Amino acid sequence: MAEAESHGIVIVGGGICGLATALGLHRKGIASLVLEKSEVLRAEGAGIGVQANGWRALEQLGVAAELRKTAGLITAYHDVWLQGGKSTRDRYPVRTELRCLNRKDLIEALAKDLPAGAIRFGCRIAAVHADPGGHGAVLTMADGATMKAKVLIGCDGGTNSVVAKYLGLPPVRTIPRPVLRGFTSYPHGHPFENEFLRLRVGDFFIGRLPITDNLVHFFVTMAKPAADEGLTGGDLRGVRDLVLRDLEELQCPTEITEVVRRSDPESLNLVTNFWYRPPWEVALRGFRRGVVTVAGDAMHAMGPFIGQGGSAGLEDAVVLARSLARAVGAAAAAGDDSKPPREEDAVVGEALGAYVRERRLRLTLLSLESFIMGVLLVRSPSPAVKLACVAVLVLLGSKSLRHANFDCGRL
Ligand SMILES: Cc1cc2nc3c(=O)[nH]c(=O)nc-3n(C[C@H](O)[C@H](O)[C@H](O)COP(=O)(O)OP(=O)(O)OC[C@H]3O[C@@H](n4cnc5c(N)ncnc54)[C@H](O)[C@@H]3O)c2cc1C
Repeated sequence: MAEAESHGIVIVGGGICGLATALGLHRKGIASLVLEKSEVLRAEGAGIGVQANGWRALEQLGVAAELRKTAGLITAYHDVWLQGGKSTRDRYPVRTELRCLNRKDLIEALAKDLPAGAIRFGCRIAAVHADPGGHGAVLTMADGATMKAKVLIGCDGGTNSVVAKYLGLPPVRTIPRPVLRGFTSYPHGHPFENEFLRLRVGDFFIGRLPITDNLVHFFVTMAKPAADEGLTGGDLRGVRDLVLRDLEELQCPTEITEVVRRSDPESLNLVTNFWYRPPWEVALRGFRRGVVTVAGDAMHAMGPFIGQGGSAGLEDAVVLARSLARAVGAAAAAGDDSKPPREEDAVVGEALGAYVRERRLRLTLLSLESFIMGVLLVRSPSPAVKLACVAVLVLLGSKSLRHANFDCGRL
């Protein structure tokens, strides 16, 4: 039988968090290998709102300046509620940095400075096991090959993380909510303010965010599960037609329907579910087992309710790379970079433990805020529950975007 390949730091998943973690480690002079199941970078079209905390993390990773060139500042929230022929409006300034990025730009910026061969595509991990020799972890690929990792970081997303499963974490919860997303180009400039328009009409929740003067991102969230709506991922133009028909019946303003109608069909993208890990699991569960840990959605999927999942993953990447770099630096300073495996594991394990401890409160608060926002938006709670939810949001400073003021610190 062929001997298993052996590597130092292995990251499962080449999404936002996996690439950011690899880049953070690379900036600290530490090599890693990203294993990604897709054949190419998963940079399919959708916008992603990145808040001030996310920009601070991107600065530490050395990619903020170039990304700012591709995404204009959003200066206000504009909330509109259309119900029974009446409209309620609320417009308030965004006092921190908020920009909507094309995910493709973000993914490509994170990947492009990684050394050749740092990402291995078409590599789906089927299972993770403890090394029988008691050192590191063993990964089994979908094709049956195995690989040994001295350190394993699971950035393999919220839905089916094999690394989260190895850590004994429960599967994330699912909310069946279809969201149609896409981009609309305006070669001669769009007519909109630099604001995040959030519109509620009937059962729909719609967002419109300018990315540049010529590009606008939109999303339309529907209340019924995709199957009930007759929506499938295959025919996205058909999905767009169905959505437009419903919006027109609800007399949705044409400044919204036109954005959807004129969207680039190639950019359309349908998400059928939201995923989240409840805040009590984020607060209490174990996120490390020996030299194995998780980051990003694999650790704390939180749905899109406060638009922080991606930025929280960027923060994870900075903190994790910093913790590992400290451990490596401490070993080197002690003139001891050839410790016996068990001692090496203990040092790395301590670094990963420090990462989990540092992230715990921050992620619990973000997950709590997102969870409560989800209860308000998705579940139509009783007046008493609604009041309690609003009270918690006030305490968390939700309206003033206190969550965006967080600084994950230097790499
Ligand atoms: C509709 C919607 C809107 C959102 N809007 C925002 C927003 O505006 N702002 C924001 O900050 N966040 C937003 N989010 C959340 C954000 O998209 C996620 O938090 C973020 O993408 C998670 O990144 P990740 O790298 O942890 O996971 P993922 O992006 O899921 O990446 C996981 C990667 O791992 C790979 N993978 C999975 N399993 C394996 C395996 N077994 N072997 C090898 N590779 C594997 C996958 O192919 C993928 O590339 C939104 C989410 C949704 C659903």
